[in-house]
Amino acid sequence: MNSRRSPTLSKSRFLAGLQCHLRLWYQCYAPQLASEISPAKQSIFDSAHEVEKLARQLYPRGVLIEEDYLRHEEAVTSTAALMKDSKIQAICEAAFLYDGVRVRADILERFGHGSWNLVEVKSSASVKHVYLWDIAVQYYVLTGCAVRISQAGILHVNNQYFYDESELDLDSIFTFADLTHQVVHLQDEIRSNLSDLKAILAKENAPEIKPSRHCMRPYLCEFWEYCTRKMPEFWVLNLNGINQEKLDQLTESEVQDIRDIPDSFALTRIQNRIRTSIINQQEYISKELKAEFDEASYPIHFLDFETVGPAIPRYTSTRPYQAIPFQWSNHIFYQNGTLEHNEYLCCEDKDPREEFTITLLDTLGNDGSIFIYTTYEKDIIRQLAEHLPFYREQLIETLDRFIDLCAIIRKYYYHPRFYGSFSLKFVLPALLPEMSYENLVIQEGNQASFAYLRMIDPSTPPEAKRTIRNNLLKYCGYDTLAMVKIRAELLKRISENSIV
Ligand code: SF4
Repeated sequence: MNSRRSPTLSKSRFLAGLQCHLRLWYQCYAPQLASEISPAKQSIFDSAHEVEKLARQLYPRGVLIEEDYLRHEEAVTSTAALMKDSKIQAICEAAFLYDGVRVRADILERFGHGSWNLVEVKSSASVKHVYLWDIAVQYYVLTGCAVRISQAGILHVNNQYFYDESELDLDSIFTFADLTHQVVHLQDEIRSNLSDLKAILAKENAPEIKPSRHCMRPYLCEFWEYCTRKMPEFWVLNLNGINQEKLDQLTESEVQDIRDIPDSFALTRIQNRIRTSIINQQEYISKELKAEFDEASYPIHFLDFETVGPAIPRYTSTRPYQAIPFQWSNHIFYQNGTLEHNEYLCCEDKDPREEFTITLLDTLGNDGSIFIYTTYEKDIIRQLAEHLPFYREQLIETLDRFIDLCAIIRKYYYHPRFYGSFSLKFVLPALLPEMSYENLVIQEGNQASFAYLRMIDPSTPPEAKRTIRNNLLKYCGYDTLAMVKIRAELLKRISENSIV
């Protein structure tokens, strides 16, 4: 007989269990297998906490339960005491325990006649499906504790809010989605899900679940690296653009490696190209690749932007999550073979858009093609043109000069070591193994945004600010240098393969 005492469930464990039974089991019995929280992920958590703190200001007469999650029982006692006090209009981080499930409600607002509104704060700009389960399990626990709920829903950021005053308008920056009806309807499913999850936790051994798409939905699982450590190098999940139906068919036939996909299996043109390239361990170069590069005119610019999109607008004339460009890097390659590097990074806590634009237009001049990697930079230019009418025409004129290097590679080139991805982080080391992002402190865009916010934070010491500044300059500069090198390497391979 199994004498194991199951750990208590919490809202986050419940949601983890809904995503994957193994994730829940690992969280409870083998948390050491999880990957470390990356700085980029941490910045998302920090931003969510900021939004939560701001939302609390909508309830000025609310009281925060101070006990953290490690002192849940005390938090439950404090919550019960505050609920009895009719002067208390709202309780933030209200704690409850019912049926072996612990929850903390972001905001519990006294509604009248002994009933309450249950409010979950989310930093996102829309109501995601997973939020229904989030609020439904809270509703289950609270009603189980005999709390009468009048309304249950999500208070989320309104990305249509335009910040044009000196003070944030809290009533406009948040919007409430009433989900009471849906949440009530989910109660039977909550009960049955809880019973399934408890059964999983009562087992001695971890459930056998193979990693797949579910590991990323709704969130990338923290055990991803551990679970995928034995997957083949050319795993079918990484086959570019493969849909769920095809994946299921391959899984059913126990095909895990792209090289084992039968010839008869229907793939798209690009997937077939990838498969052939991997089987032969040979790159694919289309004849059209050269023509694409021949289109470029000198001096050739290689351009990259870094942006930050705070949930809570930081500067006037911006909306929540609007991408604010704060840095650009431009490598300029002249016909005589010389390479010049220009860059801009805003180092102060101010709206950088005008300075960014002036310096950008200066470095781009009026001549030459502009290589970018994906079309993100074009979107930012359009936004800047809308915000800065004085520079509109000049900004829009640059758009005709842009060439998307990623789109060219996607269409006309493949290397087995792209591992199904056309991101610079894969393309660069595959083509130029001596170059990689691994030695950089900042290695991705999210990390750059987070670092930027730390750099302009007045409380960051000057020495740390200088280090961040250098890291940001290195990262953005490396992105554009990578494009210079990739173009040169592809031209070399075209000539080696005698493509004319
Ligand atoms: S990585 Fe995937 S299979 Fe592994 S625990 Fe997480 S969700 Fe489950």
